[in-house]
Amino acid sequence: MRMFQVCVCGQPLQLREQPTPQPKGTEVLLKTLAAGVCHSDIHLNDGYFDLGGGKRMSLEDRGMKLPVTLGHENVGEVVAVGPDARGAKVGARMLVHPWIGCGHCAVCARGDENLCRAMRSLGVFINGGYADHIMVPHPRYLIDIGDLPPERAAPLACSGVTTYGALKKVPTLKTEPTVIIGAGGLGLMCLALHKQMGGHSAIVVDIDPAKRDAAKQAGAAAVIDGAAPDAAQQIIKLTDGGAWAVIDLVGSSQTARLGVDSLIKGGKYVIVGLFGGDVTLSLPPIPMRALTVQGSYVGSLPETTELIELVRRTGLPPVPVRTRPLDDVNAVLDELRAGKVIGRVVLTP
Ligand SMILES: [Zn+2]
Ligand SMILES: [Zn+2]
Repeated sequence: MRMFQVCVCGQPLQLREQPTPQPKGTEVLLKTLAAGVCHSDIHLNDGYFDLGGGKRMSLEDRGMKLPVTLGHENVGEVVAVGPDARGAKVGARMLVHPWIGCGHCAVCARGDENLCRAMRSLGVFINGGYADHIMVPHPRYLIDIGDLPPERAAPLACSGVTTYGALKKVPTLKTEPTVIIGAGGLGLMCLALHKQMGGHSAIVVDIDPAKRDAAKQAGAAAVIDGAAPDAAQQIIKLTDGGAWAVIDLVGSSQTARLGVDSLIKGGKYVIVGLFGGDVTLSLPPIPMRALTVQGSYVGSLPETTELIELVRRTGLPPVPVRTRPLDDVNAVLDELRAGKVIGRVVLTP
């Protein structure tokens, strides 16, 4: 099999070849049909997250072992099934839920594998989909996509479930406007799912006019330039006193400041993006204004299953998707790094 791996952090992915493994135990082998390129692949390629103040969180310190094949938004066709992999059928086209926990701790048992302390995420800690084949540890991580096109379904595994999980943390989703910071691939997905989940209205913030246009066309009630000095005041005015919920898909020092400053009393700031940085917050306003600051990390297996049900019922989120050959992976990562991608790029082997 051919696969593109991080061999040295900060350097382009390297093409490697090895014999295609045969599934053992509960494993299932899929032929890759589509693999979405996610912004976090840039961090995974670089090998660290920026913690602000010159500090870094190293992924190798957190258990990432090199070389590893990236790619965590995958759809594949089952081609071989281990002797104990019950329920997996050769020929089925499946979305791979990549946020895999240890499988036996209390957190995993209650369905929050994405919060397990010993995660084995596919495309992060175990080999992912920037390859012609993917090995999945257990058939329970496979979700039937029915007749959804693989390249449109693949982004649901990260971009989709990450925004779905964040939107589910907004109690006022159906009754008040939700502010979405960031109108890249994640932002457009969030906007589309917000609508499909019955959201009231969405105000989208981005510093890039092209991305604001894309959000406007995709149904944002209003768009705001995040670089405007009065961006928070604009949000407060549009929401009649402040936002009940801000979902920050960027996660930089600037957007965190903006997000918290835009809230109404009782409002909630949900941080999803991993751009990096830090922020100093005055503490008294947090209790006095009863603010909530909540992190949201990818999504759980039950959430991915719910999301696929939602999409099969209400249609695919109309996020622009472009396909590129797998061999272009390094060029695509560079374009993403330069902020040149609108919507999502999906690799096909
Ligand atoms: Zn991702
Ligand atoms: Zn666990």
